[in-house]
Amino acid sequence: MKLVAVGTVAFDSIETPFDKRERVVGGAATYITLCASHFLPGCGLVSVVGDDFPNDMLQDMTNRGIDQAGLQIKAGEKSFYWSGKYHFDLNSRDTLVTDLNVLAEFDPIIPTSYKQCDFLMLGNLAPAVQMKVIQQMESRPKLVVLDTMNFWMDIAWDELMAVIAKIDVLTINDEEARQMAKEHSLVKAARKILAMGPKYLIIKKGEHGALLFDQHNVFFAPALPLEEVVDPTGAGDTFAGGFISYLASTEDISFENMKRAVIVGSAMASFTCEKFGPERLLEITRSEIRERIQQFVSLSSVDIELEG
Ligand code: AMP
Repeated sequence: MKLVAVGTVAFDSIETPFDKRERVVGGAATYITLCASHFLPGCGLVSVVGDDFPNDMLQDMTNRGIDQAGLQIKAGEKSFYWSGKYHFDLNSRDTLVTDLNVLAEFDPIIPTSYKQCDFLMLGNLAPAVQMKVIQQMESRPKLVVLDTMNFWMDIAWDELMAVIAKIDVLTINDEEARQMAKEHSLVKAARKILAMGPKYLIIKKGEHGALLFDQHNVFFAPALPLEEVVDPTGAGDTFAGGFISYLASTEDISFENMKRAVIVGSAMASFTCEKFGPERLLEITRSEIRERIQQFVSLSSVDIELEG
């Protein structure tokens, strides 16, 4: 298994200023693996659901090469449930409900076939669980990417610091970067966060694109100005799924290739925003993806020469 992804598989209720949906399928690992299925023939999923989770969705995932040997299904229990309400700009949201349910007691068991994966995506989840996954690996993956959010910074700071010291790439949004570093300037925040352990940091800025940092370089990728954003839920996870699966499919983890991976992640995230839940990820074609990536490239490419 080249890529293994860990994270929530969940139900979400989402309210935007224009529309709402109750209990659609969501969860970080759902978006990550569905996105990755466009770039890799197979990937491993480590998560937990209750027996309320729809079989059709699990079947759709299997059909797309998403291996579920690492997915625990708990009889008589409820899946993770999250509900959020977006502000008018759709760039920020309030969490209304987080019901951990099966996640409260989640003890990840990594199947033997996953233990030597080269690429490990630790999707948004309790940092202690992310750590348990790292500890079960038989060999150090070539690249470990971790995503987290303010919820875990608020309730599990020490565990979060312990796990980010062990990873290669951290992805968070701008607000979370400021909270983590206690710095308003994102450049200063990036410097402080890189000193906490990760070699690379990606700061996601929603409709304002994403920044990739290492100790010496910065790269900026814009977000596609979409005519209509229906639901941004899962955009960050889709981004992470596109980023890591592109790197895994090209087997190149240089900074230059990470720049391409950031563009791929941004392009995939733009699809997720076009409909509620992961619906777009289930229907897009290779040619739509190719065309979208090209749009991204043209978005900020320009010939410019200063005379004299
Ligand atoms: P994103 O919009 O990419 O930040 O991610 C949204 C997804 O994250 C939703 O599908 C939720 O089910 C999931 N989610 C929300 N809160 C948490 C949490 N505390 N831990 C793990 N996953 C979460």
